[in-house]
Amino acid sequence: MTNDALWAAHLCLTEVYGTQDIYGRYDPMHELIATILSHRTTHANEVAAYKAMRDRFPTWEDVRDAPLDELTACIGPANYPEVKAPWIKQVLAAIIAERGEANIDFLVEMSTEEAMKWLTSLPGVGLKTASLLLLFYFKKPVLPVDTHVHRVTQRVGVLGPKVSAERAHKLLLEQLPSDPVVLFNFHKHFYWHGQRVCTWYSPKCSECALVAQCAFYQSNGNMVLSSTPKKR
Ligand code: SF4
Repeated sequence: MTNDALWAAHLCLTEVYGTQDIYGRYDPMHELIATILSHRTTHANEVAAYKAMRDRFPTWEDVRDAPLDELTACIGPANYPEVKAPWIKQVLAAIIAERGEANIDFLVEMSTEEAMKWLTSLPGVGLKTASLLLLFYFKKPVLPVDTHVHRVTQRVGVLGPKVSAERAHKLLLEQLPSDPVVLFNFHKHFYWHGQRVCTWYSPKCSECALVAQCAFYQSNGNMVLSSTPKKR
């Protein structure tokens, strides 16, 4: 990976998508639990599961104390509800036991390393979820690498074909400025590009601003990447 190629791709997508201020979708607790629900689940089903859960159990204490089978049924629109329901109860129990309330705003006072360590110690919270929360809500200089960011950076060639998404968090961060606004925009741009243009099965290369520098395009789509499933 070269810093120049990575930066050139970032500037190119900034031209396409513009520069945004940092923003989150919800409040931090909502995002934390919604992100657990979102794992291997469509956005529509994540939203449906979250709404059903909060309609049935209006406070976070209610969710923590909910009978496991009822909570599992409520979040049924999400995939793997039998795994996610215990995680959600454990996460809420841990936060409320430590902080006295379901609130993680204290993370803003922690160093990035401490906050990352704290979040990833929670059940069901991995590097991607923790990075997203810390960047979007607490403006910490970290980079969430989801499936779209992983795939597009690999196709363009700024990440090696075998680099895992976990490893990509560190490798990309090392090559970018430690500036939350830059990192937020990098994440958003590659995420949007993966959703809208560089999709899994049918990348729209003829419409793509990165085509001149894209290793995947130059290989006629013959690169085998850890981020992309085989064609069916
Ligand atoms: Fe993706 Fe094609 Fe653009 Fe390369 S040229 S980044 S494969 S859409």
